[in-house]
Amino acid sequence: MNIEGSCLCGNVRFSAVSPAPYPYRICYCRRCRKTGGGGGTGANIMAKNASLVVEGRESLGTYVSASNPPGPGIPPVELEMNFCRTCGSQLFIYSRSEGWSDWVYPWASAIDTDLPNPPDWYHINLGAKASWVDAPVGSEHAHFIENTPESIEKWHKDRGLWEES
Ligand SMILES: [Zn+2]
Ligand SMILES: [Zn+2]
Repeated sequence: MNIEGSCLCGNVRFSAVSPAPYPYRICYCRRCRKTGGGGGTGANIMAKNASLVVEGRESLGTYVSASNPPGPGIPPVELEMNFCRTCGSQLFIYSRSEGWSDWVYPWASAIDTDLPNPPDWYHINLGAKASWVDAPVGSEHAHFIENTPESIEKWHKDRGLWEES
């Protein structure tokens, strides 16, 4: 689907095509907690980097962070975080892992388009969760102490939700 996003002050606007627009993956790691400004969590979706159009690129700042705590079968990677230098809104991330350069990972929080509601949720990096945060429980909520190597692409494809374009 086509997604449009923006920062709080409006200096930066972006659009992209996302074949994987369900923000099912809620991350409780230190990076998401410190930068997200929400309830100690963050969620990214996946979009085609070649489709990304950014207005106000001169307002973008970047910060290279270590990845989420690596999980089983997940090597540590560097993530380039892109944010608005005026208002501080986090906008999208690039993974510097080999093989991921076709993709950009917008924060669900930066998207203004209504995203679809996931049929089930992954709660990842719960080992780094803030003590005052409770992850939702129930059959539609899978819990992971660390990250999970299952890709955003696989989650969507397994559920018939991957949008080829
Ligand atoms: Zn801004
Ligand atoms: Zn995280």
